[in-house]
Amino acid sequence: MKQFLLAGSLVILMLNGVAQAEPDVTGGEIKTHEVKPGIYLLEGKGGNIGLSIGEDGVLMIDDQFEGLSAQVQAAIENLGGSEPDFVINTHFHHDHTGANVVFGRTGRVLAHTNVRSRLISGFEVKTFNTVVGPAPQEALPVITYDQGVSLHFNGEEIKVWHLPTGHTDGDSVVLFTESNVVHMGDLMFAGMFPFIDLINGGDVEGYVRNVGTVINAIDANTRVIPGHGALSAYDALKAWHAMLKTSVDFVKDQKLQGIVLSEVNPEDHPKVWKDYADGFINTDQWLETLYTSVKQ
Ligand SMILES: [Zn+2]
Repeated sequence: MKQFLLAGSLVILMLNGVAQAEPDVTGGEIKTHEVKPGIYLLEGKGGNIGLSIGEDGVLMIDDQFEGLSAQVQAAIENLGGSEPDFVINTHFHHDHTGANVVFGRTGRVLAHTNVRSRLISGFEVKTFNTVVGPAPQEALPVITYDQGVSLHFNGEEIKVWHLPTGHTDGDSVVLFTESNVVHMGDLMFAGMFPFIDLINGGDVEGYVRNVGTVINAIDANTRVIPGHGALSAYDALKAWHAMLKTSVDFVKDQKLQGIVLSEVNPEDHPKVWKDYADGFINTDQWLETLYTSVKQ
């Protein structure tokens, strides 16, 4: 048995060479960050959890891992909440849905149609060498949508908005229309290159387009909860989007010159890449993702 530590936060436990999706979260702690009054970010070992806590109850966005669910529930109770009434899954990846099996027993799970079908069938995420089997009934979203849905909860409209073929084929972002907060799901990895799951319906150019679509729908004062990384400002999201566009343009240009992946000169890499190279995805993996997905 051995462990790989990626980016200091994503731990994948290897058993007999087969990666288990549920990592060792022993001793994992949850840090709470206030985003706006009644809106919180919980940081643990998986994707960032968004919370709305108020007079109508608790709405949670993503739920990390089953093994951390007691700590997540304790963090919610510290903020004056009880068991979540609603859980929104921004996409199917296990570091965002692993605790559906706990929170789905007492709350209602919502997600895009493709999230439910992938949780039913099980899935593989090759980049992280993880295989997840079919989810039990209580972990499945009971409310699904194709385009989006709004919840009128805790004094505001909370818009859940599906964007096609980006990180996966079942991505949603969540907009808190009065609080002016957006939870990006994995359409933002703050300060890092993104992981784009090309095997499960993701697409680099779709991803970049979707991030731009969200930027156009928010404003300079919007607070941005990324799927991974620190709570961000609008300007950081715009700078990150510019890096993505630069990356796509770079690879289009390389391909136009007939340069294949193995021949790309590291000295030609966009200068901005050095600021994003220390995350889940290193520079070589990012370049390979771009080369695989971006059309000339
Ligand atoms: Zn993801």
